[in-house]
Amino acid sequence: MKVYEAINWGAKELKGVCDNPRLEAELLLAHCFEINRTALFLRREEEISKEQLERFLEFINMRKSHIPYQYIVKKQYFMGLEFFVDENVLIPRPETEILVEETLKRLKRGDVVLDIGTGSGAIAVSIAKYFPDCTVYAVDISKKAIEIAKHNAKKQGVLDRIFFIESDLFCNLPPNLKFDFIVSNPPYIKKREIELLQEEVKKEPIVALDGGEDGLFFYKKIIREAPFYIKSGGKIGFEIGYSQKEEVTTLLEESGFKDVEIIKDLAGIDRVIIAEHKL
Ligand code: GLN
Repeated sequence: MKVYEAINWGAKELKGVCDNPRLEAELLLAHCFEINRTALFLRREEEISKEQLERFLEFINMRKSHIPYQYIVKKQYFMGLEFFVDENVLIPRPETEILVEETLKRLKRGDVVLDIGTGSGAIAVSIAKYFPDCTVYAVDISKKAIEIAKHNAKKQGVLDRIFFIESDLFCNLPPNLKFDFIVSNPPYIKKREIELLQEEVKKEPIVALDGGEDGLFFYKKIIREAPFYIKSGGKIGFEIGYSQKEEVTTLLEESGFKDVEIIKDLAGIDRVIIAEHKL
């Protein structure tokens, strides 16, 4: 079978499975060859080896069973950086880049930042990479997530500026440590809405999605404890789900946070909330 024939076949197999079957077939085949799509195009008349074909078949079958493309190729780009991802971590979303960008705009030299629920390390690693004059702490309850985040930090050359700690929220942080900036993209989907999610999303770790009955479980916990871990004048920034703006604003104000700012994503949905802790 030639390259272009394999692409045609793969595209047909993926029809109805994803929005862009041809593109995904091309990318998956390119991944088998360990080359990019352009290079694949140049080899479209070449014969495929038996091993490559088998690999391609396996990838197509994985995709047909709704395994996200990013888990098959084991990577996702975030803030222009390549992150390793697998089924132990949430796939970083483009919307989350807004949280990172808004945080970067507000950081000051020497700031100490905490990323809660770091997952793949997307937020912590990007902050450390694009704001070299800060120290980052990154926590996650999942040991496997911490390993992956460390791997990603190493790949981006920022491992020496991020302290990774396996911790249920603030639990295992060093005592008396206070932060200038706390960021988090916590699980915020309402329990009953999880079953309605796309099949692909349901392949992501449930602990990264499940925000409890009202979707606010982690905002409540983090915001309640944050005043003990944040400097006066320090800031907190969250990604939020659609329709969570009011509730999270109230939680912040009840905990002594002021100057609440909301930033919308490109679809016009309230996506990021930032507030300042003033005593
Ligand atoms: N912080 C990670 C991200 O934004 C993981 C978030 C999560 O698992 N809820 O991609």
